[in-house]
Amino acid sequence: MLEVTNAGGEWQIRVIPNKYPAVTLGLSDILPPASSALGVVSQLPAGAHEVFVESPRHIQDIWELSVDELVQVFQAYRERLRFWSTDERICHASIFKNVGLAAGASLEHIHSQLLALPDIPPAIATELVGARRYYDEHHRCVFCQLLDEELTHRQRLVVDTGSFVAFCAYAGRQPYETWILPRKHSASFEQLSDTDTRTLAEILLQVVERLRGQLSPLSYNLLLHTAPFRTTATDCYHWHFELVPRSTTLAGFEWGAGMHINPLSPERAAGRLYVK
Ligand SMILES: [Zn+2]
Ligand SMILES: [Zn+2]
Repeated sequence: MLEVTNAGGEWQIRVIPNKYPAVTLGLSDILPPASSALGVVSQLPAGAHEVFVESPRHIQDIWELSVDELVQVFQAYRERLRFWSTDERICHASIFKNVGLAAGASLEHIHSQLLALPDIPPAIATELVGARRYYDEHHRCVFCQLLDEELTHRQRLVVDTGSFVAFCAYAGRQPYETWILPRKHSASFEQLSDTDTRTLAEILLQVVERLRGQLSPLSYNLLLHTAPFRTTATDCYHWHFELVPRSTTLAGFEWGAGMHINPLSPERAAGRLYVK
């Protein structure tokens, strides 16, 4: 599906279909329309599920990759997003990484996953509604506004490279939840330039290194939030990574109410992560 090789012809990254897919575009496997939604679910929902094998070396986390290797990973993300953006059946693709047992990693070898879906997932839909509402009221992207405020107050700042900014999320779900945003407004990850893939690799490696200084072992979910394909939200949406360390367990309140209790304030977390 996609193979990145080095000058010697050895593979560096492979993108392959997930052996145990959560969704499928195989016609015989697709659920019939919603009329049977309350019947027996015996088939997979529609979509595509891919795995990025990010190194031929048997390593687990991105801090074990060089900047060059991580650049190639982001370029592979970009390539697969561009691929799915031309498929009319697909509306949005989620890319995510589960590192460590507490984050739900089922494979020890370094990898990420892509789920391409025919609908916009709820997390993105909620962000889009809020972003559109803010834009209509203030004529400005809410994420650009957020960046300005974080860079002014600096209390939640973790790393500022000039073209990317990392800060502890104001309403993070878990201690040390860190968001990484491009400084320049952009709705879609697939528009990222080669230069920016390098700066992004550098800032993500710095963030993970600092988190490793606070949490051991470090388990986390890295979530790419990017606009739906063929979107009209290019003015109000702004792609970003949400890195959610998994140091506390989701319990009754989280599952029952869909809300999160975070015992560490983002200002205190950033104070431990920020290096002057
Ligand atoms: Zn923006
Ligand atoms: Zn988000």
